[in-house]
This record gives sequence, structure tokens and C-alpha cells, in this order.
Amino acid sequence: MRQSSPDHGLPPLPDPATPTPRRLHMITWGCQMNVYDSARMADVLAPLGYAPTPSPDEADMVILNTCHIRDRAAEKVFSELGRLRGLKAGRAAAGQRMILAVAGCVAQAEGAEILARAPFVDIVLGPQTYHRLPEMVARVARAGGAVIDTSFPAEQKFDFLPEAAAPQTAGGLTAFLTVQEGCDKFCSFCVVPYTRGAEASRPAASVLAEARRLVGSGAREITLLGQNVNAYHGDAPDGGTWGLGRLIRELAEIGGLARIRYTTSHPRDMDAELIEAHAKVPALMPFLHLPVQSGSDRILSAMNRRHTVADYLALIDQLRAARPDLALSSDFIVGHPGETAADFEATLDLVRRVGFAQAFSFKYSPRPGTPAAGAGGQVAEAEKDARLQALQALLRAQQAAFNESCTGRDLPVLFTGPGRHPGQIAGRSPYLQPVHLAGPATLIGRIAPVHITAAHTNSLTGTMHTAPMPEERACA
Ligand code: SF4
Repeated sequence: MRQSSPDHGLPPLPDPATPTPRRLHMITWGCQMNVYDSARMADVLAPLGYAPTPSPDEADMVILNTCHIRDRAAEKVFSELGRLRGLKAGRAAAGQRMILAVAGCVAQAEGAEILARAPFVDIVLGPQTYHRLPEMVARVARAGGAVIDTSFPAEQKFDFLPEAAAPQTAGGLTAFLTVQEGCDKFCSFCVVPYTRGAEASRPAASVLAEARRLVGSGAREITLLGQNVNAYHGDAPDGGTWGLGRLIRELAEIGGLARIRYTTSHPRDMDAELIEAHAKVPALMPFLHLPVQSGSDRILSAMNRRHTVADYLALIDQLRAARPDLALSSDFIVGHPGETAADFEATLDLVRRVGFAQAFSFKYSPRPGTPAAGAGGQVAEAEKDARLQALQALLRAQQAAFNESCTGRDLPVLFTGPGRHPGQIAGRSPYLQPVHLAGPATLIGRIAPVHITAAHTNSLTGTMHTAPMPEERACA
């Protein structure tokens, strides 16, 4: 950790050792792991008196929790900082102090650059150091100036964090739980190994304890998170090591935990025990996000994905044999350097062969410092646009077909909150589709069968199923 020059001219902060009430506003970009991290940063600041506020206007501290995956990520952060600069200056003019912190992967990648371009920022911290946030706040309070900590500390941050306060989403009924962080795969296009560090897993006992607390606070569904979640290899209570399949089996024993999901997986880490969990653990939901990125072996090799199309298809066969109603999701990048029209056709072919219930697809865009950014054979923007449109049209059609195949069926729905209209409630199908229907609010928090009457682009509508639930039938 180091400090830059003092921030002169601002009123001092209250002593953080005295927990007077303060307001914390968080802006979170990116994946569920960032949503989880934001919640844990709020937990770690709660003993200092910080409570969440929905508006930055009245906040004593604003944290931007950033994501480096998408295009122009850093520019979006600097643009937001420009807006907050005026707010901070206005507060200072009124004799009040606002701490401004930048966290997450952009902070990790651009740490010093952030303080150079935005010297009004007080704290820059990477994803591995947010357990040190109270100490950073104290240093800013004591000495002024800016603090930057983007190290990869030897200590595991999870050993130093307070207990998670509450489930993070959908009225507390669904929760994220990070079990693994970091990545050793070094795909050609990705910054994660550089910003999140090497793969590390939390001890199983710590994961189980947090899951029990979340269920005790009302969570019915937990999504296990990790950059490579299925690379999970945590120290086990019996002195051995558990993989994700074993961890899921143990989590499924927690009374009251009805649904388990996990994301994001790498095809190479999908082992036999995890595939077996899909067959044998009813609480493990039949929906899997398994990124493939390309349908061309040549491009998969250039991406350093370390699996082939045949490997991926064989894996899908095994998974579907284990859980025939498994719905699949994936990530695709079109226009990776060197991708020809034939490579792209191979991607479309893979999509047709697998059939996805949903997917995320992006144009390749270079990330500074990654191998693909400097590679030859960059694809023209117009060509990338055309390929993305063609791929997305196919994926949209598959999603529509999957949703349509659910109509007329009876699906167990976890009701998570009120719907958009009076008298409506909303929930989630096993396949992660939002479901809306007329029903009593007393059902919120319960799982009940719903007869699906209509499919929409991204959701389903239905009616309460009055007959006993028949044996669950899958969508196609
Ligand atoms: S597996 Fe590849 S794409 Fe996924 S986080 Fe690691 S390097 Fe990035």
C-alpha cells in the first residue's frame, strides 16, 4: 500500500474508530462476482457506521466497483469520475467530505493511471484487497491524500471479512456466494488472470458456514461464483480437498436450501464428479452456463482455450446423459484475430448442433496487455458487425424456440417478489427464466408449480397450477 500527496483544502473526516452514521453509495459494473464483492465491501464498512444509500448526492463515500471485461471499460470509469468530481467539490464547498474509491478490475489494471488522471480519487483498491478497506479509510481520514492498494496479498481476503450480512438479490431469496477466484487459463483475449490473479479456492467449511447463514437469513437459492468456478478445489473438513461436485453435494444437505446454481465454468474443469452431481443432486438446477467462445478448432487454439470442438460436444453429451432436461448457455466472441469466414461458419454450426437456451455474444475487442491485442489478422469492424448480427439472430431464434417449448408445461417456480402489475407475482423457473403470473403475495419465498401459458423473448407467463404437480417434464 502506498500513499500519494495529501488532499489539501478539504475538511477532515470523522475518526473512523467512532462509528457515527454515514452513507455509502456503490456503483457496480460487470458480473455477479462484482455484485457479490460490492455487498462484501458494504459488509466490511458497516462497522465504521456506513449504511447504503441509493443516491450519490448525499453519500459520505462512493465506491465505483469496476469491470475490465467490456469495451472502453476504463473510459466509462473516467466519465463517471468526472461526474462525481463536481459532486465532491460541491460537498467540500459546503464543508462536507465525500470519500471516492475505485475498486475492481479497472482499478487493478489502471491503478496509478487513475490517480494521475483523477487526483481527486481517495482510494484505489484491487479485487483482492477489499478486506483492507477500513484501514484505507482510516489512513485517508488520518493523513488525507490518496491510498492505492492493488497488491495480491499473501493472506486470503475471505479470512478477514466479516460474515455476509444478508442475501444480495430478489428480496433476499436468492444469493451469490463466491467460492473461487482468479484464473490460470490465460485465454488470449482476457484480462482476468492479470486483474484477479491465480486460481484460489475458499475452504469448504467457510463456504458451508456462509451458505448456512444465507439460508438462515432467508435465501432459498444460492449461486456459487468463481471466475473458473468448476476449478474449485477447497480444503475439506476431513483434511482432503473437495471439488465443486462434492461441495454441491454437501451444500444440498442444508435444510431450506432449495436451489443451487454455479457460474462461470470452463469446459476443461468439468470433471466426472461434477457431471454426476447434475444427475444425482435434485437441488442443482438444470441450467448450465458453459462458455465455448468459438466453434473453430483453429480459433480455439489461437484463443488458448485448451479444448477442441469435439471435447466440448462430448462434454455436452455427457451432461445431457446425466441430466436430460439440462438447458445450456454460453459465451461467444466473434472476430478474434485470425478468424476467417470459414471459422465463423464453424461457430454457427456448433450453435446449431448444441442448441442453446440463451447465450452472450460479443465482438472481439483488444484488451491492452493481452496476447490477442497485438496479434496479426485483426478482423475488420464491419465484418465483425456482420458476423455478430448473424450469430445473434441464430441465438435469438434458439432462445425463442426454447422458451416456446416451455408453454403448456408445468414448471416449479421460486417466487421472488411482486410482479410488474398489481396482483402479479414474479419468480424464476429452473432454467432461470423470469416467470410472471397472477397470484397472492403470500407465495413469495415458496416454490410452487406454474402452468406456462405464453413465452416471450426473455420471460414466461403462466397461471397457478391447481392440480398436484406431475412428474417434472423438461422444456425441449
Ligand atoms: S478461462 Fe479464459 S476467459 Fe475465462 S477468466 Fe480465465 S482467461 Fe478469462
